[in-house]
Amino acid sequence: MVEKTILVEKKKEMKEEIVDKKLLEKASQKLEEKRDEKVIVLKVEEKVEEKKQINKEISIEELPGVGAATAEKLREAGFDSMLSIAVASPGELTEIAGLTEATARKIINTARHKMDMGFVSGNELLEKRRNIGKISTSSKAFDALLMGGIETNGITEVYGEFGSSKTQIGHQLAVNAQLPKEQGGVEGMVCYIDSEGTARPERIKSMAESLKLDPIKILNNIKFIRAFNSDHQMLIINKIEDLIKNEKLPIKLVVVDSLMSHFRSEYVGRGTLSDRQQKLNKHMHDLLKLAETYNLAVYLTNQVMANPAIFFGDPTTPVGGNIVAHASSVRIYVRKGKKGTRVARVIDAPHIPDSECAFRITEEGIRDIE
Ligand code: ADP
Ligand code: MG
Repeated sequence: MVEKTILVEKKKEMKEEIVDKKLLEKASQKLEEKRDEKVIVLKVEEKVEEKKQINKEISIEELPGVGAATAEKLREAGFDSMLSIAVASPGELTEIAGLTEATARKIINTARHKMDMGFVSGNELLEKRRNIGKISTSSKAFDALLMGGIETNGITEVYGEFGSSKTQIGHQLAVNAQLPKEQGGVEGMVCYIDSEGTARPERIKSMAESLKLDPIKILNNIKFIRAFNSDHQMLIINKIEDLIKNEKLPIKLVVVDSLMSHFRSEYVGRGTLSDRQQKLNKHMHDLLKLAETYNLAVYLTNQVMANPAIFFGDPTTPVGGNIVAHASSVRIYVRKGKKGTRVARVIDAPHIPDSECAFRITEEGIRDIE
C-alpha cells in the first residue's frame, strides 16, 4: 500500500513537472522580450533544461525488456532514472530486479546510449562547488581533517563502535548548522531522524549554551522525529522534501542516527538480504537526491561489524555493504583513543587525503584536545 501511494504521488509530481515546464517556457518567452534582463532569461532557460532532463530521465519503460512489472521493481529499488541505470552494475540489477545478467547488461548499455551523460564544464562544476556549505564540528582538528567541516550537497557517514561519539557529533552538527557562515554554520534548520531513541535535547541545550546561543531558539529549529521501522524511516525522507518544498522550511542538515538499526533487525538471515539491499538502495538514493536537490548536508551514523576477511590491522567494517559505501561522499571511522579521547579517520573521500585526528567529548560538546 505504502509503495502504491508513493508511486501515485510520483506520477502526480511528474504531471506537475510537465505543467511547470510549460509555465517556465512561457515565462522565458516573455522575459526574452526584455533584452536588458538577459541574465534572468539564462537562468530560466537553465531551469527549463533541468526540467526537460528530469522528464527525459523518468521514462525507464523506454528501455528494451523493461515492462511495467520490471519498471516498478526498478523504481522501488531506487533505479528510477536513466542515469541511475546507466551507472548501475549488471550484478546490482540482477540481484534487485530479478533480471538475467544478459538482460541487465542490455538495459544498462541502452541507458548509457540513450542518455546525455550530463557533461558539465570545469567552470560550471567549480561554481557548483562554490555554493557548497560546510558545517563545523566545533573541533579545529576535526574541521581541518574534513577540509572545513561536513559538506552540503552530499552524504557524510560516520561509523564506529558503540560509544565512539557518532550521536554526540550529530547533536553538535544540529547546533552548528544554525550558525552564520563565519562561525562555521549554514544558517539552516535541522531535521533529526532518531532510530535508536538516543536523541537528547538536554545535550543540545548544554552545547548551545556553551556557544552563548539561546537554547530555546536552537531547539525550535531542530525537528526531531523518531523512526519506528525502516518503512517509516524511508517515508520521513519524503516528508522532509514536503517541509522544504511546500512549507518552505530552510532545512540545511538532515541527521539519520542510525541508518541501519531498523534495516538490520528487520531483515535477519541471508534469504532476505537482497530485499533489504533493494530497500536500502532506494533509501540512499532518496537521501542523496535530497542532498543534491536542496544543497543540504546529510549526516548518517552507521554501525559496524568485524570483517572476518581482514587478518591484519583493524577488522572493523561499516554495515550496509556497497550500496551505502557508494552513496556516501565522505566516510569517517571514529574510535576510542587514549585517555578518553576519540580518533576520527577519513576513509576514501574524493577531496580529502586518508588521514586522522583526535578530539574529545566534553559537557560543552565536541572539542579539541588541549
Ligand atoms: P555512539 O553514538 O557512537 O554510540 P555517543 O555519541 O552516544 O556514541 O557517545 C557516548 C559517549 O559520549 C559517552 O561514552 C561519553 O563518553 C560521551 N558523553 C556523552 N555525554 C557526555 C557529557 N555530557 N559530557 C561528557 N561526555 C559525554
Ligand atoms: Mg549513538
